[in-house]
Amino acid sequence: MPSVKFLRAPWAEHWVLLLGLAFLASMSTLSCYRIPPFPKDGNVILVTVDTLRADHLGCYGYETIRTPVIDRLATGGVLFRQAYAQSNITIPSHISILTGLYVKDHGVSENARSRLPREIVTLGEVLKVAGFRTVAVTSNSILRPHIISGLERGFDGFYSPSKLERGAEATNRDFFRWLKKNHRHRFFAWVHYFDPHMPYMPPQPYRELYYRDDPRDPRFASMPDLDFPRAWRDPKSPAHRLITWLDGVRDFRYVVSQYDGEISYTDSMIGKLLEQLETLGLAQKTLVIVTADHGESLDEHGIHMRHAGLYEAVIRIPLIFWAPAVLRRPRVVDAVVKSVDIMPTILDILDIPGPGDQMKGRTLLPLMAGGTDDGRRFAHAEHMGRSQVMVRSARWKYIKTLKQTRISDSFVLDEGQRELYDLLNDPEETVNLSAKHLGRVREFEDEITRWRASSQAGLPQQPAQPAATPDDYLKALGYVE
Ligand SMILES: [Zn+2]
Repeated sequence: MPSVKFLRAPWAEHWVLLLGLAFLASMSTLSCYRIPPFPKDGNVILVTVDTLRADHLGCYGYETIRTPVIDRLATGGVLFRQAYAQSNITIPSHISILTGLYVKDHGVSENARSRLPREIVTLGEVLKVAGFRTVAVTSNSILRPHIISGLERGFDGFYSPSKLERGAEATNRDFFRWLKKNHRHRFFAWVHYFDPHMPYMPPQPYRELYYRDDPRDPRFASMPDLDFPRAWRDPKSPAHRLITWLDGVRDFRYVVSQYDGEISYTDSMIGKLLEQLETLGLAQKTLVIVTADHGESLDEHGIHMRHAGLYEAVIRIPLIFWAPAVLRRPRVVDAVVKSVDIMPTILDILDIPGPGDQMKGRTLLPLMAGGTDDGRRFAHAEHMGRSQVMVRSARWKYIKTLKQTRISDSFVLDEGQRELYDLLNDPEETVNLSAKHLGRVREFEDEITRWRASSQAGLPQQPAQPAATPDDYLKALGYVE
């Protein structure tokens, strides 16, 4: 039979074999790197917890703390162990999360009034066009359209505190009210909590959960010399309220216990949010992402209770995806990833096209579905004011100071300063190896050059710029003097 002859020809057998291998390869790719389709009526909740460092969560190995809710999301979903924020401060970092753009691309590098150019498309806009009802509920007055004009684009509702900030319970109240009216429709919610930010003053019982002594007892003497900005120390400044809770405190353990108390309180409020989803029958068809805009230096590198610098305590953030409908195999991913990857990942899970070539992050879906090496090598971050740039590889971290950076009155980094840390052997970044490993420093310099040149296409001619006028809110928050 001609067809048998055809198949028996040596070149034809070869062709059939190749075709078969290609088919098997595609099947194995599908089975390795795909997840079931996300429900067509499924929802998305993006939770950003301000000032939450990864290593103060149970699921990231911190044994002192109780964070059962976030831990449950992690063990039932996908946890990224090495996730990095794009900036050490709130507004630039959140814009990166909500646009998939690095700070160098969206242009807002300070916590100040700013305007997002019309050409930059936000996650809210993409999902609204795709038919979602959309809401943003924030807990700090700087995260509102009054301060970042353009941030409201794509959100049907935008709820933020009328005062400076609010606790997670009040934030939940706004969100639950909106949810009750809108949950029968497919929705996207961005919920921002602020509690772990200074001042650390959790409500009871969280205030005493990790500390039962008297922190002002004269027998304690572990409180370091605190290097707060001038405005914080000035009793006449509105920012002074940030540190009044520390008056007379002599035991530094108390500070850590109050930070941890804020985290446990926030965890319990995320628990209330999940209960709400259960009650409304939404839990099985909702994708929940938990992450942070940056961490917090408690006393690392002599930086106290602030998020200055690009060291691990400040720039390494939690990143957890939980979606029982599609992420059925819990995983811990070790690859180095970053918060600009969040928007492309959400859109990939939802199977919704992104805004052209705007997004500079990459979908994490192959890693979430079991892929081990998809070629990603580095995470990049920039310091407030673009005064420092960081590159993190699987093992190393390189920080270059581009402009003199006053981290505190007693800690100033000079322009041109280079820091290289071997995080495998020195996770606390104590030994600067830049003078010893010149070849590696050159490689990181080359990577910075490559990265800077990488994002020109598809970006607005005039990226967002912070306005020069200081803002009363920002002063009161201690963000500007
Ligand atoms: Zn923040």
